[in-house]
Amino acid sequence: MTARVVIIGNGMAGARLAGELHAREGDRKVTVLGAEPHRAYNRILLSTLLAGRIDEPDVELTEAAGHGVDLRSGVRVTAVDRSAREVRTGDGERIGYDHLVLATGARAVVPPLPGLDPANLPERVVPFRTLDDCRRILAATDGARSALVLGGGLLGLEAARGLATRGLATTVVHPREHLMERQLDPTAGAVLAGTLAGFGVTVQLGVSATGVAADASGVRLDLADGRSLRADLLVLSCGVRPDTALAQAAGLTVRRGVVVDDRLRTSDRSISAIGDCAEHDGVLTGLVAPAWAQAQVLADVLTGTDPLARYRPRPVVTRLKAAGIDLASMGDASSGGPDEELTFADPTRGTYARLRIRDERLIGAILLGDNPAVGTVIQLFDRGQPVPSDRRALLLGRALGAVGATPAASPALMPDAATVCQCNTVSKGALVRSWRSGARTVDAVVAATRAGTGCGGCRDAVSGIVDWLSQAESVEVTR
Ligand SMILES: Cc1cc2nc3c(=O)[nH]c(=O)nc-3n(C[C@H](O)[C@H](O)[C@H](O)COP(=O)(O)OP(=O)(O)OC[C@H]3O[C@@H](n4cnc5c(N)ncnc54)[C@H](O)[C@@H]3O)c2cc1C
Repeated sequence: MTARVVIIGNGMAGARLAGELHAREGDRKVTVLGAEPHRAYNRILLSTLLAGRIDEPDVELTEAAGHGVDLRSGVRVTAVDRSAREVRTGDGERIGYDHLVLATGARAVVPPLPGLDPANLPERVVPFRTLDDCRRILAATDGARSALVLGGGLLGLEAARGLATRGLATTVVHPREHLMERQLDPTAGAVLAGTLAGFGVTVQLGVSATGVAADASGVRLDLADGRSLRADLLVLSCGVRPDTALAQAAGLTVRRGVVVDDRLRTSDRSISAIGDCAEHDGVLTGLVAPAWAQAQVLADVLTGTDPLARYRPRPVVTRLKAAGIDLASMGDASSGGPDEELTFADPTRGTYARLRIRDERLIGAILLGDNPAVGTVIQLFDRGQPVPSDRRALLLGRALGAVGATPAASPALMPDAATVCQCNTVSKGALVRSWRSGARTVDAVVAATRAGTGCGGCRDAVSGIVDWLSQAESVEVTR
């Protein structure tokens, strides 16, 4: 009998899983049910779309529709009947499954403020999570001169930079004492605020919003210190919450997310969960690299390609996708304790670097502005390699030999195991192997390896490696 796999959610995790299943041999019927009306799209690139650096068609993801994948957009699943092994859709259809996958993602948090009804937000008040949100923000910018962004985390700042690029006087309101407090220390936050000011983004720190009033002419945001800020639109960027409603109603174990084991199984062996809705080992990921890694493991397990495949979290590197602002943050770079700490700050140039080292290994770093060593630092962190004895060279990005080679500087010196694409976990060695297998252009290498198809931040590095390969007479690849 053909195995029936039903995937709830056609987001970045669900669409990737469908593709992974499609790519593996075997007789199975895969049904993907997606509540959003569109084809699957790259949610990460919404910040770039908002900034006007790409167009809507550029965010589409290639899907595995047809060939055994039944893809249904605009279909919301309203209930899971575990005893009958069926899901029910909004229009009353019942669809049976042998294995069910929850890939329901997360929803934007709408803060509980007077004037904000999550079910009925004013036209000029928009969260930033979906393509429809992005369209609404862009519609509201038409003829607008000013914008407010509530929330100074990563996405709030990407939104603010994008709105400023479109010529809007933009103010970020953040309740904490410094920006991106989950990733940055206070000094880095202050340097970043200075950089943003240069792009026309004002920052109001350490003040909470107390209410919102909005009509067709604009928005007023009331603050706890008695002030009110006015603008033509308000973007809400107050975090996300895993979408666990279906799992909860079906009686699965849910903490902050749907609890899964290393095989991505929930408390029901016939149901798995991946992506933003899943909680693995007490951790919610909220990023695409783990979601795609989980999709790969689950496809291996479900199809029997590798029944022993297990999801193992990798170190996370966060990068801000905002034109003119280079920011990478990884691990725990906070101060205190016996660890070795190295810092360099040049606020007038918007540059800041902080490295935290324990037992000769990098356990955290913040690199803001012009930091030539960023590629090296990411590789050292990612691979847990010993740091070079010349700490100053590492901090300031001077020549470091083999370990310090960035792809753009010298791909020849990069170790083959170095991860070039963080979103898809693609190493330099994998890029070289795709070249050797016949991929001769950047597009062909990208198609063969998927490098560059996540946030796109490694595209220059991939191009650099392809250029180097096309010039090199012979390339020795070691594993
Ligand atoms: C603007 C923006 C920028 C980002 N930038 C980055 C970045 O640079 N790097 C990074 O790693 N991550 C980034 N992220 C986070 C990243 O997009 C998420 O981690 C990723 O989308 C998670 O994929 P997912 O499939 O789990 O969830 P989602 O992509 O949210 O997809 C879940 C899908 O399930 C659907 N769904 C939910 N319930 C049902 C139901 N009952 N029936 C049917 N369908 C349902 C939803 O409609 C949605 O389409 C960004 C997010 C945003 C919003």
